[in-house]
Amino acid sequence: MNHAIPADAPNRPAWLEVDLDAIAHNVRVARRALRPGAALMAVVKANAYGHGTVPVARAALRAGAGWLGVAVLSEALQLRAAGIAAPILILGWTPAELARDAILHDVALTVFSAAELEALDRIAREAGRPARAHLKVDTGMGRLGVPADERGLQVAEALARSPHVLWEGTFTHFACADEPVPSHTERQIERFSAFLARLQAAGLDPGLRHAANTAGLFRFPQAHFEMARLGIGLYGYAPSRFVPLPEPLRPALSWKASLAHVKAVAAGETISYGATYVAKEDEWIGTVPVGYADGYRRAYSGVGRVLVGGVPRPVRGRVCMDQFMIGLGPARGDGTARPGEPPASAGDEVVLLGAQGDAVLTANDLAEWAGTIPYEILTSLDERLPRVYTGAALEQE
Ligand SMILES: *Cc1c(COP(=O)(O)O)cnc(C)c1O
Repeated sequence: MNHAIPADAPNRPAWLEVDLDAIAHNVRVARRALRPGAALMAVVKANAYGHGTVPVARAALRAGAGWLGVAVLSEALQLRAAGIAAPILILGWTPAELARDAILHDVALTVFSAAELEALDRIAREAGRPARAHLKVDTGMGRLGVPADERGLQVAEALARSPHVLWEGTFTHFACADEPVPSHTERQIERFSAFLARLQAAGLDPGLRHAANTAGLFRFPQAHFEMARLGIGLYGYAPSRFVPLPEPLRPALSWKASLAHVKAVAAGETISYGATYVAKEDEWIGTVPVGYADGYRRAYSGVGRVLVGGVPRPVRGRVCMDQFMIGLGPARGDGTARPGEPPASAGDEVVLLGAQGDAVLTANDLAEWAGTIPYEILTSLDERLPRVYTGAALEQE
């Protein structure tokens, strides 16, 4: 039996391999594309898009990222608890009652309303330390941010006056930077620039100005300002096929498992819940010990593929919570008596995402089967999958 489980992930025959050299490579590609002098924020929210927050953050910082971006306070605190001292910005809303922890850990907050700003100033005064704030401007995303007009200017003026809040940056976020037509993004850049000009005219210092996500970084150099926020590109994926990359990025993540079981199934037998798959001929069926609870989505039922021995193999029947079945080819026999040699055996490596031999499955493939985007595939990789880190970037720890 050929157990493919890595020695440092012994607790489960299913795991993720994260190549930290790929993370470092992607940081370097982004920095080469970036305006000289502009900083790079590595966006490590959502468990670093499923890759593991702390190891990815360390690798990105070592490769030249200057900032870390997260979505929520707990992610920032996890980085600080690991001893990471780099500047961190929480990109989402941090309610005032949680702000004290952010202030005490020197984590920058996103500010977009006068009322929140007032509460933040009071909390910073009570905490005895200044709060760091980035003013968020809504230029066409419609999510968070002050309007890019007179009302936004009023919040900016209040921010400049807040004695206990340090105005560290000003930013916006693009809605369509990865879409074929650039006009919406160009309009957002114009609005942002006009708002910055208003700030300047009012004698206000916006601090670090930033706008670009991965798509903005590679496609709209006029939006680099003083920093760009690299998310999906950090993990080796283009945001969409409309975003040209100056040089290839390297996907950092592979998803592997060991086959739990291989058996011959007779023609007419059914596989999995609902008996939706009926074997048309005697067939080898393998069981993979991974399910939708791990992020192997139920939508892959009957449409997904995995790699076994470098050969793509189809998902058979419905994906279960913790397991699913695959077809391993015709069994040439009566399916039960003497079906000959199976093409794979229990313990063999199955690749759910990544390369095996010459065959490759990417997060784009999985996204297509599920009718979604690679972002959602990566961020739904469950915590119960052990993460194994590889690459020279690791050895320098
Ligand atoms: C998630 C996020 C990013 C990163 O976006 P990508 O498309 O993954 O590069 C950048 N900025 C903000 C505000 C975000 O929420």
